[in-house]
Amino acid sequence: MRDKENPPIMGRATAAIHRGGLAGPVYGEVSVPIFQTSTFAFPSAEAGAARFTGEEPGFIYTRLGNPTVQALEECVTALEQGSAGHATATGMAAISAVCLGLLSQGDHVLAGDCLYGPTHVVLDRELTRFGISVTFVDTADPGRVAEAIRPNTRPLFVETPANPTLKITDLAAMARITQERQVWLAVDNTFATPHLQRPLTLGADLVVHSLTKLLNGHSDVLGGMIVVKDAELSKKIKRILSLFGGTMDPHQAWLILRGVRTLALRVDQALTNAQKLAEFLAQHPQVEWVRYPGLPSHPGHDIAKQQMDGFGAMLCFGVRGGLEGGRVLMNHLRLITLAVSLGGVESLIQHPASMTHAGMPRDKRLAAGIGDEMVRLSVGCEDLADLMADLDQALQAIP
Ligand code: PLP
Repeated sequence: MRDKENPPIMGRATAAIHRGGLAGPVYGEVSVPIFQTSTFAFPSAEAGAARFTGEEPGFIYTRLGNPTVQALEECVTALEQGSAGHATATGMAAISAVCLGLLSQGDHVLAGDCLYGPTHVVLDRELTRFGISVTFVDTADPGRVAEAIRPNTRPLFVETPANPTLKITDLAAMARITQERQVWLAVDNTFATPHLQRPLTLGADLVVHSLTKLLNGHSDVLGGMIVVKDAELSKKIKRILSLFGGTMDPHQAWLILRGVRTLALRVDQALTNAQKLAEFLAQHPQVEWVRYPGLPSHPGHDIAKQQMDGFGAMLCFGVRGGLEGGRVLMNHLRLITLAVSLGGVESLIQHPASMTHAGMPRDKRLAAGIGDEMVRLSVGCEDLADLMADLDQALQAIP
């Protein structure tokens, strides 16, 4: 007899395809249905009251929980090897819920110096309005991280690989530092995805995602997720999401779950392309430098090799002629789309200094290694030869 509760799941590709379903399918459906409902009828007044107190299980209202959203939460939680996951409207909603739920006036946040632009701005400019102080530190250097921790430091917030510099942080080293000092470690795992890196198994307390990116994979929907190890942390985050309302819609969850089912195929194809493109760009006469964790020249290559199961789909580079050269390149591409965001099946290119990271003060941006000349490439699943030919013809256009 088939036991759907405890299927014989072995690998990550299998988990992405099979985890997160309904407790009992209604018609034997293979795909999780979209429960497009804002509210759920109670069988009786007593049962409704019991659902509110938590004495009886059951859905109440979609902001508080929905079966389609729950299926996605279960799937991503299983992939991250966490104990609970909370889906959010966007990646930024996930990051905001972590801040709102777990920080108080007087707390100090220690964060990596290279983060997605709006994350940096939230920490640097918005949290300070609530009496929360922030220090940005080079997380590639564990010594500096240990020194920067204060008695009131609550989280250490890290992105690895970081957006857009691809800086690699040693997560096990960070966990050793934070665990000794009772600081919790939060990791934005958007660039790696749980297919390539599982921070909770390396000692992190919490993972956030922009599901908009590789997990969904089709550039057609936004979403976010917080996955935790600890039940107390989960309770706090659930409470904040339920009250402040940054939760996910069922249709959004269904679309993302459909994307997650092919995560392994897409990520493996994209990273194979990315490695070859990084090598191609590194030897191209019009290219000055390339950053990709899969290149031995990347300063975090050895750590990435240890803590990741692949080097990812993102790379950045600078071309001859600096910013002007980069503009010529971006304007001459015919196949690779000039757009922000990342992680879709189609390749996208953008200019962090004037686009995704334009909100960061210039001095902090430059200190984080995000130069004016940098272009960032999100490598998709197209045929490698087509991507190479497109980059080559656009690079040739640089005078
Ligand atoms: N974290 C990282 C690393 C990102 O790259 C992004 C968006 O690009 C976000 C968070 C925010 O995600 P969203 O756009 O879904 O709010």
